[in-house]
Amino acid sequence: MAVKTYKMLIDGEWVDSSTKRTFDVLNPATEGVIAKVPKGEVEDVRAAIDAARTAFDNGSWSDKTPAERASVLLKMADLVEKESQRFAELESMNVGKTIKYSRDSDMPFIIDNLRFFAGAARNLEGKSMGNYSGLGFSMIRREPLGVVGAIVPWNYPLYIAMWKIAPALAAGNTLVIKPASYTPLTLLEFAKLVKGLLPDGVLNVVTGPGDIIGSEMAKSDKVDMVALTGDVSTGKKIMQMGSNNLKRVHLELGGKAPFVILPDASLEAAAEGAVVSAFWNGAQDCTATTRIYVPSKMHDTFVSMLVKKASKIRVGDPMKESTDMGPLVSAKQRERAESYVKVGLDEGAKLAYGGKRPAGIKKGFYFGPTIFTNVSQDMRICQEEIFAPVLSVIKYNTVEEAVEKANDVVYGLAASVWGSDITKTMNVANRLKFGTVWINEHGVLTAEMPHGGYKQSGFGKDLSMYAFDEFTQIKHMYVDQTGLARKPWYYVVYGDKD
Ligand code: NAD
Repeated sequence: MAVKTYKMLIDGEWVDSSTKRTFDVLNPATEGVIAKVPKGEVEDVRAAIDAARTAFDNGSWSDKTPAERASVLLKMADLVEKESQRFAELESMNVGKTIKYSRDSDMPFIIDNLRFFAGAARNLEGKSMGNYSGLGFSMIRREPLGVVGAIVPWNYPLYIAMWKIAPALAAGNTLVIKPASYTPLTLLEFAKLVKGLLPDGVLNVVTGPGDIIGSEMAKSDKVDMVALTGDVSTGKKIMQMGSNNLKRVHLELGGKAPFVILPDASLEAAAEGAVVSAFWNGAQDCTATTRIYVPSKMHDTFVSMLVKKASKIRVGDPMKESTDMGPLVSAKQRERAESYVKVGLDEGAKLAYGGKRPAGIKKGFYFGPTIFTNVSQDMRICQEEIFAPVLSVIKYNTVEEAVEKANDVVYGLAASVWGSDITKTMNVANRLKFGTVWINEHGVLTAEMPHGGYKQSGFGKDLSMYAFDEFTQIKHMYVDQTGLARKPWYYVVYGDKD
């Protein structure tokens, strides 16, 4: 396959990096170079921020009616839908996720998310006409923030980019967005596809290192909001840098999702749910099941069911329909998986399954599904986000203990509870300190469902109408109803001197 050279989109123009430097983008299944992408510099991202600032301030997008903005988002959705197969193939080739997953999960969500926020743009309303003072009317309305700097990760490149682009544009903001350096291709292709639908400068895509491009977006006083999906450590840096001009900060960070099996759960359903939610997308998913809490007396049966199911996962070429798990995104990510297997063994955990690269595959960053037992709560494999297919199973004796252990991590993104008594499952779900808790399910997400973390998994919500709490600001406007002659507020404060 020919190596394609890309440019960045700044102020409606396709440009190289100001230094003309590029970086290579790999196919993790072959380790071969598939594209060259501009290695942006500070001056490039500054130009993009200036363009987004001008586009916001001149009202070319924010002054459009909700119906006009919605119509653009709907056109975007139609264009992506037409090219859906091409986007799915490119995403799979760049990330290593299976074609089944890109085509049947990522792409429909991306398209639907654009359509959801097209509708949402027309339902963006504040309260109006409350008479709270007894002297006049209040109008409380939502306005766009201005320039949004969005920074996205490599595990769901276009999908998570759309979690930022769709609500930001629906609300009337302009954007500078930075893809992760491993996976910039689908976002650049998306920008190419939709460029003609937007005034220049409304959507800018800048590629390059996070600590140059992302940092400048976080620091710049011309940016009004920075929205990151990424690692907790990156979130902490962004928050500090964002304090420069006290910009709004929206952080969707890591997770270490517990999967709590109650004593009356169906073990078959739980094992099926666990094996899917632990290993989809190569476990490179912030909501992936990572810690399974199972009653001691059910432990051995459950583990043998889990291992049997995991052994059926077909690891291999992500472009093949029959493949369930492709390679991890990078050599670094595979080293990370391997290093945590070593940590687990050193800590005294037992490998119930996997722990190694699949046999017979010579090229590609492959690593097989891995299951640890004999895991205790204080082990690093139980506490730290691995972001690779390394799963821990932990025994418990009382439900109280399971809830306490499930909550005992710094993360709080997502969790699940499995059981057949709705009262008992609800009781546990209520006590789990996570932004999402599924009952007898793990991982369902649609555009209507708010997604975001508790604790160090961040704050603010992606998706749903709640996303507008991040991408808009509230303005209060007040109209006196007493007649200017009476100087009403003066009268209330100082009394009637006449
Ligand atoms: P990362 O934090 O390394 O990178 C995320 C983005 O931030 C990339 O675009 C990167 O270039 C940029 N970046 C890195 N350092 C930066 C800096 N100093 N300043 C500004 N920008 C910087 O994360 P990753 O490895 O790409 O993604 C994996 C992480 O993302 C995991 O922790 C995962 O749990 C998390 N994640 C969270 C969600 C969620 O919705 N909560 C979804 C997906 C991934």
